Amino acid sequence: MRIADQLGAGFKGDIIGPDHASYGHARRVWNAMIDRHPGLILRCTCTDDVVAAVNVARANGLLPAVRGGGHNVSGKSMSDGGLTIDMGGMRNVAVDAGNHLVHVDGGCLLGDVDAATAPYGLIVPAGIMSETGVPGLALGGGIGWFSRKHGLTCDQFVSLEVVLASGEVVEASADQHPDLFWALRGGGGNFGVVTRFTFRAQDFGPMMRIGVSLYQPEDAAETLREYASIVPTLPRTIGWHAALKHDIPALPFVPPELVGARLLMLISMWLDDADDPAGAELVDRLGAVGHPCVTASTVLPFGAGVQKLLDEEFPNGQRYYTKEAHVAELAGEAIDTLVEFWKDMPMHGEVEIIGLGGAIGDVGEDATAFSNRQYLLWLNFAMAWNDPANDADYIARTRQVVRDLEPWTGRGVYVNMLNFDELDRVVEAYGAEKYARLGRVKAQYDPENLFRMNYNVTPVPGDRAGAAGPAAGAHG
Ligand SMILES: Cc1cc2nc3c(=O)[nH]c(=O)nc-3n(C[C@H](O)[C@H](O)[C@H](O)COP(=O)(O)OP(=O)(O)OC[C@H]3O[C@@H](n4cnc5c(N)ncnc54)[C@H](O)[C@@H]3O)c2cc1C
Repeated sequence: MRIADQLGAGFKGDIIGPDHASYGHARRVWNAMIDRHPGLILRCTCTDDVVAAVNVARANGLLPAVRGGGHNVSGKSMSDGGLTIDMGGMRNVAVDAGNHLVHVDGGCLLGDVDAATAPYGLIVPAGIMSETGVPGLALGGGIGWFSRKHGLTCDQFVSLEVVLASGEVVEASADQHPDLFWALRGGGGNFGVVTRFTFRAQDFGPMMRIGVSLYQPEDAAETLREYASIVPTLPRTIGWHAALKHDIPALPFVPPELVGARLLMLISMWLDDADDPAGAELVDRLGAVGHPCVTASTVLPFGAGVQKLLDEEFPNGQRYYTKEAHVAELAGEAIDTLVEFWKDMPMHGEVEIIGLGGAIGDVGEDATAFSNRQYLLWLNFAMAWNDPANDADYIARTRQVVRDLEPWTGRGVYVNMLNFDELDRVVEAYGAEKYARLGRVKAQYDPENLFRMNYNVTPVPGDRAGAAGPAAGAHG
């Protein structure tokens, strides 16, 4: 029987095969290095559609991939052959302001949530751009501007509706399927398709105080040294981020003569009341670090302003290679290594030094699947170009600088950032013990490893968990 017939009349979504007018668009993800051709894309509109899609995948032996926002750098949301379950038809957000709860459909982007919560003076702490998908980000952890004050996105989970590999729909929370709830907080898309997240919302804004300062390359190393000595002393009411940019875009505070220049940018965000004088003082103090060529601070709406500032810098459809590292110590030599790499780097993009710490570490290491909560700094190399002829050179350069930084980087991997050439690092991301625990949960909820187009955890029955390791060919 044809797949369309198996789905039945109850399937409300779009059935997009290779001959469909939307196929070319629907198979694209953020990273143009990923060029996959699914046998079929099912764009779902409701939980019943997802159940039907999971059932046809299982019944027909089709490898399912699940597409949220499509931002994952390794392209794990798109299958080659097989079946892609596209959550793009499920983007409703319902705010229960009285109870500080936000119900978010499993295909939402961060911007959908920000737009819905802003009128109520609420936020769900998530990432630093509006176009990243909620599901991939949240299920892998979710680091963003508010992490220092409120913790990770997965720390805000109250409950999740999940379509399991069997087609059964369950609710996971601290009281219902607590083992699954534990695994979903950092364990990625391994355990089923999440069709609805219920988040605890936090009071905020909608206005945010933000400060920005720019530095010429010759001042970058000295500035970062001063910055590195200050950031460990900062309160958790401030979020901060340094970016060594190949070419600064035409952001509102950038004078026209500097647009396109190679500059260091420091950003700080006050995570409390935008009118608090303590926030203005601290943001201004951080903006005066080193010898800025531009420094500015202002108050902007968070969702409609701050969260969209960086969107245009990382549009869909360029070739991207990203590589991350946790920083044990931002020593002077590490700063010199970073700055030397940046001064010569031919590719677009930026080297990011992102502030962690604060509330991230309030949650115990074993309380969730997310790992490595104790770091203050996180490095991300976000590199972009357009010509495939540069792939090998630019990837090699990026890998090399991370190797050069090894004396100062810590143990630990943020699973959401693992690239297509790092899929053997999943065990490292969790550590052997936590990976084994994830394997036991996987064995309970997806024993046949139907959901393996992700940072895959091999299902291991409880009595064999000690021997857990990635299954051959499990990464799809
Ligand atoms: C430009 C950019 C900015 C970023 N900024 C941040 C940031 O600020 N903070 C941060 O923590 N990370 C950030 N990331 C990384 C981000 O967390 C990951 O790329 C994440 O995988 C994106 O989620 P997505 O839904 O867009 O991804 P997708 O590529 O759609 O999916 C990623 C994975 O999640 C699974 N998945 C998707 N939807 C579901 C679902 N409904 N149920 C179950 N599994 C599902 C997929 O199968 C796949 O394995 C950023 C990435 C990019 C490209």
